[in-house]
Amino acid sequence: MAEERTLAIIKPDAVSRGLAGEILSRIHKAGFAIVAIESRRLSREEAEGFYAVHRGRPFFPDLTAFMSSGKVVILALEAPGAIARWRELMGATDPAKAAPGTLRKEFGTSIQNNCTHGSDAPETAAFELSYFLSGRQLL
Ligand code: ATP
Ligand code: MG
Repeated sequence: MAEERTLAIIKPDAVSRGLAGEILSRIHKAGFAIVAIESRRLSREEAEGFYAVHRGRPFFPDLTAFMSSGKVVILALEAPGAIARWRELMGATDPAKAAPGTLRKEFGTSIQNNCTHGSDAPETAAFELSYFLSGRQLL
């Protein structure tokens, strides 16, 4: 399978509970290379632009407030089939429905506060990687 990159985010709920280190450790153990990593707080506008596909959904205001509520860890991950593999490691959007052993099952506390983000297709990965990370960070 070809090397691929995906955009991952450790969301504010996980960072604020001190779970970033554990999640990074699982990323390494699963065989991903971390191409870029950045810890910072998103502005509300950045969160709105990032989740623009969900604009108009009832959960959009709460989601973008949550995503800009504290520090996140932004990651470019690389592995063969990285997009699907990272989504598999995260588990289903709703932690209550996520498979045992997945990050969201173990660390997510609600459908919104589900600890991690992952791109869902090659086109969204390309958009999301360039939305947050510079060309120099992605070398
Ligand atoms: P992400 O894009 O963050 O990786 P996802 O692709 O599994 O998650 P999406 O449908 O893209 O899920 O939703 C984006 C995010 O919006 C979810 O991760 C979650 O934080 C939030 N969300 C989705 N559905 C709901 C909902 N019904 N109620 C509250 N928040 C929701
Ligand atoms: Mg999504």
